[in-house]
Amino acid sequence: MSETAAPKRLHKRSLTGLTPTEIKAIDNSIPIKAREIWAKYSVKEFTTVDELQEKIIDHVETTFARSMYNCDDLAAYQALSYSIKDKLILHWNKTQQLHTLKEVKRIYYLSLEFLMGRALDNAMINLEIKDLCNKSIDELGFNLEDIITTEPDAGLGNGGLGRLAACFIDSMSTGNYPGWGYGLRYNYGIFSQKIVDGYQVETPDYWLKFGNPWEIPRYEIQIPVDFYGYVSTVKDEKTGNLVKQWQGGERVLAVAFDFPVPGYDTTNVNNLRLWSAKPTNEFDFEKFNEGDYSNSVSQQQRAESITSVLYPNDNFYAGKELRLKQQYFWVAASLHDIVRRFLKTKKPWSEFSDLIAIQLNDTHPTMAVVELQRILVDLEGLDWSVAWDIVTKTFGYTNHTVMAEALEKWPLELFANLLPRHLEIIYEINLRFLQFVEKKFPNDRDLLSRVSVVEESSPKNIRMANLAIIGSHRVNGVAELHSELIKTTIFKDFVKIYGIEKFTNVTNGITPRRWLKQANPQLSELIASKLGGYEYLSKLNKLKELENYLDDAEFKKSWLEVKFNNKKKLAALIKTLTGIEVNPNNLFDIQVKRIHEYKRQQMNIFGVIWRYLQIKATPAADRANTWLPKVCIIGGKAAPGYYAAKKIIKLVNAVSTIVNSDPEIGDLLKVVFIPDYNVSKAEIICPASDISEHISTAGTEASGTSNMKFVLNGGLIIGTVDGANVEITREVGEDNIFLFGNLAEDVEELRHEHQMGRIAIPDSLNSVFESLESGLFGPYDEYKSLVDNIKYHGDHYLVSDDFESYLEAQKTIDLEFVDRENWVKKSIICVANMGFFSSDRCIDEYAENIWNIEPVSERV
Ligand SMILES: *Cc1c(COP(=O)(O)O)cnc(C)c1O
Repeated sequence: MSETAAPKRLHKRSLTGLTPTEIKAIDNSIPIKAREIWAKYSVKEFTTVDELQEKIIDHVETTFARSMYNCDDLAAYQALSYSIKDKLILHWNKTQQLHTLKEVKRIYYLSLEFLMGRALDNAMINLEIKDLCNKSIDELGFNLEDIITTEPDAGLGNGGLGRLAACFIDSMSTGNYPGWGYGLRYNYGIFSQKIVDGYQVETPDYWLKFGNPWEIPRYEIQIPVDFYGYVSTVKDEKTGNLVKQWQGGERVLAVAFDFPVPGYDTTNVNNLRLWSAKPTNEFDFEKFNEGDYSNSVSQQQRAESITSVLYPNDNFYAGKELRLKQQYFWVAASLHDIVRRFLKTKKPWSEFSDLIAIQLNDTHPTMAVVELQRILVDLEGLDWSVAWDIVTKTFGYTNHTVMAEALEKWPLELFANLLPRHLEIIYEINLRFLQFVEKKFPNDRDLLSRVSVVEESSPKNIRMANLAIIGSHRVNGVAELHSELIKTTIFKDFVKIYGIEKFTNVTNGITPRRWLKQANPQLSELIASKLGGYEYLSKLNKLKELENYLDDAEFKKSWLEVKFNNKKKLAALIKTLTGIEVNPNNLFDIQVKRIHEYKRQQMNIFGVIWRYLQIKATPAADRANTWLPKVCIIGGKAAPGYYAAKKIIKLVNAVSTIVNSDPEIGDLLKVVFIPDYNVSKAEIICPASDISEHISTAGTEASGTSNMKFVLNGGLIIGTVDGANVEITREVGEDNIFLFGNLAEDVEELRHEHQMGRIAIPDSLNSVFESLESGLFGPYDEYKSLVDNIKYHGDHYLVSDDFESYLEAQKTIDLEFVDRENWVKKSIICVANMGFFSSDRCIDEYAENIWNIEPVSERV
């Protein structure tokens, strides 16, 4: 693979890997005048209101060719963003120069999703210039909050996995780790969700409509990526050896777009590099000469479809060819970029993994393992085993699920066609691995077939997780329970083969900058007033000191006030989005996350129906004394092809319509479906819960991160013993969380009992089913499949097994919420003990145990 000719530069000024003499020679090649000008150039960074205003106006006038008279919120947003990006770029340049000159080890985080949300507010917070911006914008006649909300979300992800990647790059910058993210610049992010007659309707999210002030297009970085074609064996001219050569049949270009990622309380700015697919200049002359000009052009345009859309599945493998193309396109461009940077250092290959660590966020980038091996063996002529040693020292793999339907398995045929040479390499990797296993465990054919990369099914499949494990030196799960589960279930054969040391845990976390300071400015200010400033935002364990104020009446009053204000803000959002009025004095019970049967929103809404029926069955005069007034809020997107998830959304909306308009119920129960859940909505929702729900079937939610967001903002949680709920319980104490339900270790047996027809549905749940059958919430046909799944199809997610204890936990909440004095104490204790769940801690753990990298804080 060769780089297409970049525009010729006058002077080559990449100084890494050069001797002082070579550097001097380059210096001497630059005209004296140019050197003088460069030396005089001082960084023009704004530090005052006047300077920032001048910069903003500069951008309005020149970058956008507008004036004072036609500068609207959008132009103001763009001009402010450009001004801040200018500042970021100056820091970015210095950071990258420092890392390059010091030849430090870098971590490259490969993720097919980065669910970034909005950038402006976050940049102002991380640079600690929000007051300055506020004043500057205010004097120019705009309102900063309005300008912030003008920005569309960068929705380049589905849910938790993509948001984790976004939190991680924030923490890498904050911790001064030299780290880059590599991903795809989708033209269409995750779809926007509209609700029409209670049904989800998807509309495309063309987030780049007004351009994107936060990106730096790097049109000079264009990396060719090939697909299809054939493999031939040729004689290497230098060595005389026979080597494999892949002749691709279709070529597209990967163009780099860089997004500077600022850290908090540091000038370190890392890079998120996203690739966009572009056609090459190469032209189908055959077609052209046949006079079919437009067809030969449209062939070229097909290239751009590779980065056109994010696949909207969360925790589900769909097996589409274009998706595999996306994966290889991204992996090939990223590795080419990484290798090119390494070659500039002129270091020997043996030092590759001393300078480079690559983390695979799930199996999506697993082809990187194969691509690096191909580069080293086919293009650089290294011995297979020397190359393989480098590869395995470089990669680490993060597993995100144990659910079979989410594990990637690509049909071998697809590979054979799209990436013929890579399939050969996969076979060679697998052969050597199986020989190694057989030597260690002779006569265990079953073991060989279980761990093989090739699933000998018909048709045959490539098991990406097996390949990722074999190609990495470390494999981690994302919460303690999950990491234990992968070792004892899906990967237990690999534990036997490689030993337990290869498998580790890094419990997920969230960035407190976005999920506390940005989402909840009032709470973070209240905390700062007790903790002596905002240092806690990058040292989250300091929150522990909040426990000194558990008996401070004034503080507790303020704490409650902040929660009330946040609930008012959410109530206003709900009113705008749905027209429903909710009372912020009442308990807010929230479940927002992707809609998935394993996350059990169906159990939530069945619980709501049960409560509704019970209130109705209570004599009117007793209702107000018997039932705590409650607002049940559910939100989240369903994958467009996920039938059951869409039925759940329809049911929530149907229940909402009936309950909210029932005059017998009034404020005792309100039900809300918040449409189009995304990061910027999460920032309003998470600070506003009294209770949030994390109620997955035990053993199915790898970690969860919204559980952390809610607790960090002073909400308590109702949850199952699953994912990071376990560690949250350990940190905040059992008294401060409402746990219920069966344990992961019992799930297999319960499923079996269901299959054998030995489990009865509890009366409570049956009463809910009867109300659905009666047509209380519209035609039963609509919901029959949800009920049948539980009644007749084995209740795979064990709703009937956990329903009673779920209702029990809800009852406990009702009783405890009445005692606000006690509730606020629990809330403070929860926040005080959330230090562990900062993604800064995650990155420290990855750096120490997997990447072997160190922070670099010196400045050039
Ligand atoms: C945090 C977050 C998620 C992940 O939520 P879980 O409840 O952990 O699944 C999904 N979507 C958005 C927009 C988020 O901010």
